[in-house]
Amino acid sequence: MEENGNAIPLDGNAAAGLLGELFALDMTVATLTCDGCGAVAEIGAERLYGGSMGAIFRCSGCSAVVVRLSHTPAGIFLDMRGARCVFVRAPQ
Ligand SMILES: [Zn+2]
Repeated sequence: MEENGNAIPLDGNAAAGLLGELFALDMTVATLTCDGCGAVAEIGAERLYGGSMGAIFRCSGCSAVVVRLSHTPAGIFLDMRGARCVFVRAPQ
């Protein structure tokens, strides 16, 4: 996966299908805490960069990479080193 800091980002909601392949719940409404600045935001509100193989989510507060998600022929790779924690609200 290639990061391109000059590309115009979509918002994280554009990755709903890719996230749905890995998580049964709608992860775009899960909240994520940035490990860099501590900002808390829904994953769908983070800035999304990506290409055909995956997505790179950057914090809307400090631009740090918080999630890397890629779909390879072998499977789905999730790297969340930039996220301090993720909170998914229990279904109502
Ligand atoms: Zn941040």
